[in-house]
Amino acid sequence: MNTTHYCYTGQGRFHLKNYSTCDTAGFSSKEETLPLLKENQKQMAMLQDRLYAENKESILVIFQAMDAAGKDSAIKHVISGVNPQGVSVRNFKQPSSEELDHDYLWRAFRALPERGNIGIFNRSYYEDVLVVKVHGLHRNAQLPERCITEHLFDQRYQQICHFENYLHQNGIRVIKIFLHLSREEQKKRFLKRIDKPEKNWKFSQSDIEERVFWDDYQNAYEQAIQHTSSKQAPWYIVPADKKWFARLVISQIIVDVLNDINPQYPALPEETKRMLQQCREQLLTEDQNSGNTISAVVSSVEKEQDEI
Ligand code: AMP
Ligand code: MG
Repeated sequence: MNTTHYCYTGQGRFHLKNYSTCDTAGFSSKEETLPLLKENQKQMAMLQDRLYAENKESILVIFQAMDAAGKDSAIKHVISGVNPQGVSVRNFKQPSSEELDHDYLWRAFRALPERGNIGIFNRSYYEDVLVVKVHGLHRNAQLPERCITEHLFDQRYQQICHFENYLHQNGIRVIKIFLHLSREEQKKRFLKRIDKPEKNWKFSQSDIEERVFWDDYQNAYEQAIQHTSSKQAPWYIVPADKKWFARLVISQIIVDVLNDINPQYPALPEETKRMLQQCREQLLTEDQNSGNTISAVVSSVEKEQDEI
């Protein structure tokens, strides 16, 4: 499937209202998309294995959205099937006092994926131009007066662009996903969380309080996406009213980036290949030839390598 029309690379003016929350690209049911999602998960697992083995590029997938847009479940579904050793997930909640004692990128920097890994941010440093902007939290931040100006958020957009450029230039591909949910669908999901006992734990009163600021959040998202999209680190505005469709789009975006990286298993040096062959022969003949140990073969090859 083609995801380019959900992608904004910073060209032209960005209007959130031009992006649908309920588009399903012609698919009419979850069942119809399941085989495609499964296929993408298979591709992802295969490519991630190579990414991990190659140990050069890594991928950072950032999820941002309004409450109940499906971040958690998208993360769960999309990465099911990949090797957990090569994936890290980090949730960004309200900053701790230690985090507040640092600049806002500090906690994100520490959570970046290792080479060869896929790192997932469930929320991110974008909260510092979203919730912080909507509620004016920067005014009470532990910042010197000179930093709290009307330019603060414009400066942050720029800092984020520089940061993401830095990541790209240092081997980290950045994928930014905005799960675009309608206000109506959020209401339905909140009601479900209240009505279904097994979903109660997901609901908090603050969710309702934040809903009052819906328009402010939409504006803040629009501004953030407008000012921080680039060719290397574009934003994907993923229609999220149908969870099954959002999952398909997200899996496709990740597979496309993995294919673009095209990671390869490292090729072994000729001497090592030779050593493997000798070890193989040794294993196959060990019963007949018990005096000759594998370690003897290894040390003879190592000696040979030292001499080269
Ligand atoms: P949850 O949806 O349960 O992950 O809630 C996490 C909450 O932490 C959300 O309401 C976020 O807006 C909030 N949060 C995350 N980062 C920040 C931040 N830098 N400043 C203030 N609140 C934040
Ligand atoms: Mg929440």
